[in-house]
Amino acid sequence: MNDNVLVRIENLKKYFPIKEGFLKVKNVQAVEDVSFSIREGETLGLVGESGCGKTTLGRTLLRLYEPTSGRIYYRDKDITKENMLPYRRKMQIIFQDPSASLDPRKTVSEIIGEAIDIHKLASGRGERAERIQDLMTQVGLNSEHGNRYPHEFSGGQQQRIGIARALAVQPEFIVCDEPISALDVSIQSQIVNMLEDMQHDLKLTYLFIAHDLSVVRHISNRIGVMYLGNLVELAESNELNKNPLHPYTKTLLSAVPVPDPEKSRTRKRIILEGDIPSPMNPPSGCRFHTRCPYAMARCKEEIPELRELAPGHFAACHLL
Ligand code: SF4
Repeated sequence: MNDNVLVRIENLKKYFPIKEGFLKVKNVQAVEDVSFSIREGETLGLVGESGCGKTTLGRTLLRLYEPTSGRIYYRDKDITKENMLPYRRKMQIIFQDPSASLDPRKTVSEIIGEAIDIHKLASGRGERAERIQDLMTQVGLNSEHGNRYPHEFSGGQQQRIGIARALAVQPEFIVCDEPISALDVSIQSQIVNMLEDMQHDLKLTYLFIAHDLSVVRHISNRIGVMYLGNLVELAESNELNKNPLHPYTKTLLSAVPVPDPEKSRTRKRIILEGDIPSPMNPPSGCRFHTRCPYAMARCKEEIPELRELAPGHFAACHLL
């Protein structure tokens, strides 16, 4: 990892308009004013309950969804309104559900080869076939199985196909959108280890999205915590683990299993009351105030700003 910023977002918002009745349109405020940067070679983890906007954020950052407002920079170039074709090569995504993200009518060779063709990365059929075989081997698949269809593979193997497809264009940056949550626990660590090895060998930069903090903690250099569309805390992985500041982060950490049975017995688990509110009608002030055990009158009125409270450690809470 170095200090060069590869990807930066500034005040990114993504709203989805939803029709209510004949004339009324309401917005689902999926991502609300999020800013951060990701350094070259870094893994930035993004955690939060489902529905907190992390997947929407990952897709908006890649312009798979157009941002409602805010800016996206890639190597200091503002790409918010740019033609994305040249950037599609550099910026890839691995999806959560491999079976849904692979075209069932195409063979593995066709799926991986498609991206090679779009970006004209092979000079002839021979080079293309060789490249596909290399990619299959690289992700631990049998290179002789290129003529098979996705349904002939297990869930873990399908995710490997998805990873090979992402690697086919030699990207620099990959959004890993919950890449292991649909897989059996027994193969989750194999995929995580493979992603780590690939990062090292190919000098990749990741945005790693997951709802499980224990996975994110393992793979990430820094972690961002999201709640209802907002980034509420951002810090180095170790720092966040040892010294969480935001009440919501403390709740998430208290739910992570610890290997020491003695510590596990004495540790207090914080249980949040109620469900995550609807992003169509988010609470005023601090969006966490309806569930926060420390909420004060001020929290309902004023939106807390994300502030740097220690070097590199940001949190948004009126208590701090
Ligand atoms: Fe809780 Fe208030 Fe802090 Fe929000 S600002 S996390 S409601 S104490």
